[in-house]
Amino acid sequence: RRGVLAEARTLPTVTLDGHPVGLQANVGSAADAGAAVVTAAEGVGLVRTELPFLSAARWPTVDEHLDHLVPVLRPLAGLPVTVRTLDFADDKLPPFLAAGLSGRLGRGLPLMLAAAEAFSDQFEAVLRAAAEADVQLSVMIPMVADVSELRACRKLLEAAAAAVGVPAPPLGAMIELPEAVESVEEIAAEADFLSLGTNDLTAAILGIDRRDPALTARRTADPPVLAAIAQVCAAGRGADIPVTVCGDAAADPWVAPLLIGAGCTALSVTPAVLDEVRALIRGLDFDDALSRADAVLESCD
Ligand code: PEP
Ligand code: MG
Repeated sequence: RRGVLAEARTLPTVTLDGHPVGLQANVGSAADAGAAVVTAAEGVGLVRTELPFLSAARWPTVDEHLDHLVPVLRPLAGLPVTVRTLDFADDKLPPFLAAGLSGRLGRGLPLMLAAAEAFSDQFEAVLRAAAEADVQLSVMIPMVADVSELRACRKLLEAAAAAVGVPAPPLGAMIELPEAVESVEEIAAEADFLSLGTNDLTAAILGIDRRDPALTARRTADPPVLAAIAQVCAAGRGADIPVTVCGDAAADPWVAPLLIGAGCTALSVTPAVLDEVRALIRGLDFDDALSRADAVLESCD
């Protein structure tokens, strides 16, 4: 079966009835990047950048970012690659941040915006690494809560691009907080793309810790979660921008059709399952996915 799936790598990711669905890879290392190329991902929907720094004693320097990022991006030369900025969340927090800070300011995007110099260093490093590796860069911001945060990020990114001497790349927002869903039309109007972080979003909407084993990828199909996802997709359509899913639900054979039916335009999955997800998309009837999603959403009202 593996051989058969591998043979399909040259085939387009369209449903049986011709609806295109983007298929990208999630990448955290050079090995992942190599696997994304082997499995013919059309691009990378998520490069996680915080992983090398989870035991850091201070903010990474530009050179430290470059040392980690360039080898990850190099195998991806020529491809569209979405690099996510540092996502230091409760479940991945280096000791120097875990120690002093507490509450919201100690986490996620508010933390990065409060540490503007460290954030600018990362933007500079990402721009330089992408140029060196020759990838088509997009930059993605995790844990966006409202449009003012995305605007603040764009300012820092544009300043970094001017300093490096390259054009500012497209900028997208991850939608993974219920607050972000509430104002998603405003965020979509300012973003070049949206990406659903279903791991965090599902946990937050259902009120379950994301480290709780009870929180499986399937829970993303729970009606209130799928309703939030459909609302995000509608905002994306309204603003004419893509809406990708980069959480684990994108790789779940039971949930992925519902995500496609709810209007998500691309799935970004770990390279290990990319062949399987391609086969799933190519075996799917889009009309059927639409009605399955509608049935879940109707159970919500
Ligand atoms: C998510 O929250 O769904 C996501 C893709 O990001 P992470 O798992 O890194 O928080
Ligand atoms: Mg997340």
